Amino acid sequence: RTAVVVTALSLAVGVAACDRTDGSGSDDGGFAIGLLLPANGTSRFGYFDKPLIEKKVKELCGDCAVEYANAGGDAAIQRQQMGSMMTKGIKVVILGAVDPMALRSSVEDMKEAGIPVVAYDRLAEGPISGYVTFDGAQVGRVQAEALLKGMGDKADGGRIVMMNGAVTDPNARWFKGGALSVLEDKVKIAQTYDTEGWREENAHTNMSGAIAALGVDGIDGVYAANDRIASGVIAALKAADVTPLPPVTGQDADLAAVQRILTGDQYMTVYKPFKPEADAAAAMAVALGRGEDIGGLARTTVDSATAKDIPAVLLTPVSVTVGNIKDTLVKDGMYTLDEICSPE
Ligand code: BGC
Repeated sequence: RTAVVVTALSLAVGVAACDRTDGSGSDDGGFAIGLLLPANGTSRFGYFDKPLIEKKVKELCGDCAVEYANAGGDAAIQRQQMGSMMTKGIKVVILGAVDPMALRSSVEDMKEAGIPVVAYDRLAEGPISGYVTFDGAQVGRVQAEALLKGMGDKADGGRIVMMNGAVTDPNARWFKGGALSVLEDKVKIAQTYDTEGWREENAHTNMSGAIAALGVDGIDGVYAANDRIASGVIAALKAADVTPLPPVTGQDADLAAVQRILTGDQYMTVYKPFKPEADAAAAMAVALGRGEDIGGLARTTVDSATAKDIPAVLLTPVSVTVGNIKDTLVKDGMYTLDEICSPE
């Protein structure tokens, strides 16, 4: 399905860009696009998404500029960044919101100022023009199915700990809902935690609490919503001498997580091909900046708590375990085998 979406999208992008006579975009009437991401360069957003979005914007509009700001996980900072974007003459915004509810009034201010907002990865609240993400329920289902597989016999009635993401991030709820739809009725969810700010150290603390409550032999599997959380969880399990380690899930295919999968410390991760996501957001932003309709770029529509029928692209996540690292991450060029196999 991803491939189909990407192909249809590239065609639509081609049409949107076909008024250009050469690749330089010199007759393009360039403009500035505000790119506001929730977290810094050590997260997927700064590390993968930012350069991919910048590259695609340049490809589609050679004279366009990207004004980048990352909020370092702080919603108040992101509100300020939205405010200062307005003074920079940007024509359109791509927003990966730290906390969509807290950013709602900033999105409304953008609308007032005639600046369309494309929500990136996390559904923003308020009058947004488009949304690009992965199917979050599917992310949760893929994680849960792999966890049950990793648990073997224990998948029937075993005890798991559920380590969800940040409550301020609507994706965390989406992943959790998908995961629960698979796990409920199969295993006993002995403890559930939210991870403030998706921070590794918070996951570590929460996991130490779960081990104290359930005992070193009392945990048959851990649903960890992403690789950062998995990292904190695995560190806590090791610090408490839990052996063997129970299967632990993840998400984002962080390099360290892929290496943990190879050594057997982590059971799986979810690979979200970031490029199609970045490309779709860049295409929407460039089209909106040119005053074009983006209906043709969207594959579906979604509703948020505050808006209806938002044109959207929902991409398909991929489960990665030790057996398919080469056929997914390496084949798609996300990492070379060298990067994966020779940790620094
Ligand atoms: C993204 C995940 C990411 C998490 C923490 C979510 O909104 O969808 O890919 O792991 O934020 O940054």
